[in-house]
Amino acid sequence: MKLKLPDIPFLHSNDIGIDLGTANTLVYLRGHGIILNDPSVVAINQKTGQVVAVGNDAKAMLGRTPAHITAVRPLVDGVISDYEVAEEMLGYFIGKAQELSKKWARPRVVIGVPSGVTNVQIRAVREAAQSAGAKEVHIVEEPMAAAIGVKMPIHDPVGSMIMDMGGGTTDIAVISLGGVVNAQSLRLAGDKLNDDIVSYIKDEFKILIGERSAEGVKMAIGGMGRDEESPEATIRGRDLVSGLPREVVITEADIKEAIGGSVARLVETAKEVLESTPPEILADVMKRGMVMTGGGALIVGLDELLSEELSIPVYVAQDPLTCVVRGTGIILEDIETYRDVLIENEEDLPPQ
Ligand code: ADP
Ligand code: MG
Repeated sequence: MKLKLPDIPFLHSNDIGIDLGTANTLVYLRGHGIILNDPSVVAINQKTGQVVAVGNDAKAMLGRTPAHITAVRPLVDGVISDYEVAEEMLGYFIGKAQELSKKWARPRVVIGVPSGVTNVQIRAVREAAQSAGAKEVHIVEEPMAAAIGVKMPIHDPVGSMIMDMGGGTTDIAVISLGGVVNAQSLRLAGDKLNDDIVSYIKDEFKILIGERSAEGVKMAIGGMGRDEESPEATIRGRDLVSGLPREVVITEADIKEAIGGSVARLVETAKEVLESTPPEILADVMKRGMVMTGGGALIVGLDELLSEELSIPVYVAQDPLTCVVRGTGIILEDIETYRDVLIENEEDLPPQ
């Protein structure tokens, strides 16, 4: 049998854009496109300290590892919670990009980080990428990268509003003239919704389910829709009374109830952003609406609910999970044009 190699033509560089998400890491290779899309998970053998698996292979191990192997998500709530593991993971992805591009020079790297990260965290990301082999590291805030990825006119004197809802954080930002006019980063996103579902099912049905099962029903059912035909899903867990496995059928009404509180907080935060947006820019946003990106944009019915609550049009970006990395790619292809949106040193950040 012939070995199938990834079909990447000759390229002039191995410069890459990275969306270092709490849930997923995506890599864009300059001149080519997205080459990697893997969960941000690293499995480590605690006895030897060695990395056993990264990405998809490591995610499959979450909650299923023997005692001496731990599957770690190095980014929790949008910040690097485990520096060494994050560095290992970045090194793995940078190495993979070099392998796929068949270029071994040290790459130039553009990395998206959640808005509102501290100077210390920015430095940590920069250093992790450098020790992982990057020659130059450019940092961009994720909502800005997402806005660039969906081709919003970020350099124009007009307000563009974006909500990027990932696994750990939801970033809401209003952008004009290449700068973030107003933004909030909320540590509430897909992971919290999964937790909400786990707690709800525990309280309501006395069944303990795993986080991944919760994520499964969230994706299958959505939760905020108003369809006549209410979708359902079967979920398996451990009966808290008998200790034995049991199945229950979950409806959309259950999910709506489970995640309702978190969704209300999301709405409140978006309202706060609008309330503190200057009037001219607010007028632009009312007319042009808000674009949703990230995995959270796929929650059924969330766009409609937000549109109703905020009284502005709300759109779901095409292919919302790849907006940030596509944005880093656009920056990489033309770094001079986007120099103003990059955080080149820690002074570019507002005081915290
Ligand atoms: P991050 O940027 O933090 O890595 P992503 O933008 O990749 O996050 O989004 C991951 C989150 O989106 C996860 O919490 C996942 O459960 C959620 N998600 C992905 N697809 C769907 C879907 N179809 N419906 C609801 N949530 C989804
Ligand atoms: Mg993201």
